[in-house]
Amino acid sequence: MRGVCILGSTGSIGVSTLDVIRRNTECYSVVALTANKNIDRLLQQCVEFKPRYAVVVDADLANQFRKKIALTNAADTEVLSGLEALEFVAQLDEAVIVVAAIVGAAGLMSTLAAVKAAKTLLLANKESLVIAGDLLMSVVKEHNATLLPLDSEHNALFQCMPQPYKTGQLAEGVRKIILTASGGPFLDKPLSDLEHVTVEQACNHPNWSMGRKISVDSATMMNKGLEVIEASYLFDLPADSIDVLVHPQSIIHSMVDYIDGSVLAQLGNPDMRTPIAHALAWPERHDSGVSALDLIVNNQLSFQAPCYEKFPCLRLAFEALDAKGTAPAILNAANEVAVDAFLCKKIGFLAIPELIEKTIKLSDVRAADSIATILSVDRDTRELTSQLLAEFL
Ligand code: NAD
Ligand code: MG
Repeated sequence: MRGVCILGSTGSIGVSTLDVIRRNTECYSVVALTANKNIDRLLQQCVEFKPRYAVVVDADLANQFRKKIALTNAADTEVLSGLEALEFVAQLDEAVIVVAAIVGAAGLMSTLAAVKAAKTLLLANKESLVIAGDLLMSVVKEHNATLLPLDSEHNALFQCMPQPYKTGQLAEGVRKIILTASGGPFLDKPLSDLEHVTVEQACNHPNWSMGRKISVDSATMMNKGLEVIEASYLFDLPADSIDVLVHPQSIIHSMVDYIDGSVLAQLGNPDMRTPIAHALAWPERHDSGVSALDLIVNNQLSFQAPCYEKFPCLRLAFEALDAKGTAPAILNAANEVAVDAFLCKKIGFLAIPELIEKTIKLSDVRAADSIATILSVDRDTRELTSQLLAEFL
């Protein structure tokens, strides 16, 4: 039995992870589950999986949760609160595997804590790698932690790398990697129609069911931009060795192009339980609950180049990767504020890239030499973007 801690268990990735665990209960014991606000879902999860610890970040909600859980068969679960509790459970001796499934830069410190404790880290929280890539990867090496990507594209690339492969290594014989992108819900909409798209339309992804922030990121294609940066750190490749290819069916999850002309791809139905099961069981395999891919049914696989004019976020992400230092942290913080404003219906869809670009133009890029620097850049950028937001209201 391997102990698992799931940071962000109430989100889309957290729920899918627990579904894979439910199908393989003889292999895993759930040690800790964490939630930001959704205490009802956390309670159901605790009743089913009986973790040793449950974390509710907000102290008042944690008190409400304590009263509720005391009345259930999970009364032995110890309830903790506060940001430090996330780091505490990420480092528990009983947890061999830590799933980093918190959304946004809020996941950085607990992700880092897991790496420092030499855990097997299953990383969904791409934002922590985007903002602190060099530092995080060097801590992975220093502590000999194992970092396995859960993001479907990066998990596909990991599977297509020459084996045995450890993330952070430059693999021999690789010419470039090709990240596939569905293109999101607005792939076929003309730019002129994007002005008035609604939150509901933006969150209605054609192939994947995901949290709201990443759904909007997929609609602006910032998600692919963040993934380009994520891939650069995971596979130690520069921006010009990373291609983005629009593939609306999301059957090919990404490809590795080798110098001898071979291209290796990983295919499957678009369901996050596949990369989650792969990383949980690695280097073995087990059931994920995902049905077998039927290529007679899915017999139309098509490809096109991304449109940088319609999706400027993708260009901004490539530029941030080229600029290095704190540029990706600035990009990410501006994006988190802009997406939140869009989700709260304060700004329109096309204001998202505008707000990010304005923020970047007004920010100085520095060396990303410490976590303290990154956290302060993250804070300052959020403040700046929030001020700039006023012009869009
Ligand atoms: P989600 O919004 O569904 O869930 C987020 C989780 O994080 C919840 O458990 C929530 O309680 C917790 N959380 C939110 N804010 C927090 C905070 N400030 N402090 C502590 N906990 C907090 O998001 P998701 O779709 O599951 O995505 C999670 C991460 O995985 C993101 O980084 C996303 O980019 C990445 N990812 C998601 C998918 C997907 O299919 N959903 C695919 C690839 C990568
Ligand atoms: Mg992805």
